[in-house]
Amino acid sequence: MNQPHVRPLKLGVIGDPIAHSKSPVMHEAALRESGIAGEYAALHIKPERLADMIAAVREEEYRGINVTIPHKENVMRHLDELSEDARRIGAVNTIINEGGRLIGRNTDGIGYVRSLKEEAAAMLEGRRIVVLGAGGAARGIIYALAAEAPERIVLLNRTTERAEALAREWSDLADIAALPADRAAEALQSADIVINTTSVGMHPHVDEVPLDPALLRGGEIVSDLIYNPLETKLLRLARDKGCRVHGGLGMFVYQGAYAFEYWTGVPAPVEAMRAAVLRDMNVAAKPK
Ligand code: NAP
Repeated sequence: MNQPHVRPLKLGVIGDPIAHSKSPVMHEAALRESGIAGEYAALHIKPERLADMIAAVREEEYRGINVTIPHKENVMRHLDELSEDARRIGAVNTIINEGGRLIGRNTDGIGYVRSLKEEAAAMLEGRRIVVLGAGGAARGIIYALAAEAPERIVLLNRTTERAEALAREWSDLADIAALPADRAAEALQSADIVINTTSVGMHPHVDEVPLDPALLRGGEIVSDLIYNPLETKLLRLARDKGCRVHGGLGMFVYQGAYAFEYWTGVPAPVEAMRAAVLRDMNVAAKPK
């Protein structure tokens, strides 16, 4: 009997630069673990080649593509359809090719929330959340957090106007307020969850912290989107104060897990994906 021919799944990530992306090792591990034939390529695409690359995604029958810096916003105009969250966040990190029709989604925010709920805070409903930062990553996670019915989300950002604009834009989604950074103490005194979405503390500036740790009470959950280092100085100090801490690796793994599930229709092997990234980070950290 003839078996139906199932073509290997063609997947990849586009970005500039792309060499350091952990997505290929993570998705190759997911394909292997799930017994799905396919390959996931790192594609170095300069901005001027973006349109051609998207045409190639359609024609060469890629099933799916992840999108990273600097293409997450610009790629949107080349797609046929956008999910509601991608449209409102204003960025796409995952493209699904449905028979030549390219659909853009954003899995960063929902990936973060899935990670937070699985690893640190099962319930977000009724929680008071403080978000440090108002950049691209903050947009994705605030949008996803708002869907969890928190009591309040307070934004603190170095550039207060940016936080105020975001709070205004999404006032229909949740109780979202912006405070100037010098009123951090006021925001933090009743916070259940504090989330750093700024790049402060990221390698190589590992000695920097995005807020005065003296403002933490101990007992709240402190989460950091940064995963290089795996434990930032903020998380280390928060742990010392008795806070529950949550690092950024889970967000990376779960944004990939959602993408994998959209492309394949099967549950993502999350632990194999996490292990593959950790293995790759350890190898990368060893002197040659
Ligand atoms: P972005 O759009 O450039 O935003 C950066 C944010 O950090 C802004 O709010 C900015 O404030 C603030 N900031 C930068 N330097 C600062 C400083 N010295 N002091 C105070 N605030 C400062 O960047 P992004 O794409 O949102 O990324 C932010 C972080 O999230 C990065 O560390 C990135 O690695 C991490 N991230 C992690 C994942 C994951 O999968 N775990 C995914 C995406 C991003 P202003 O508005 O005042 O400039």
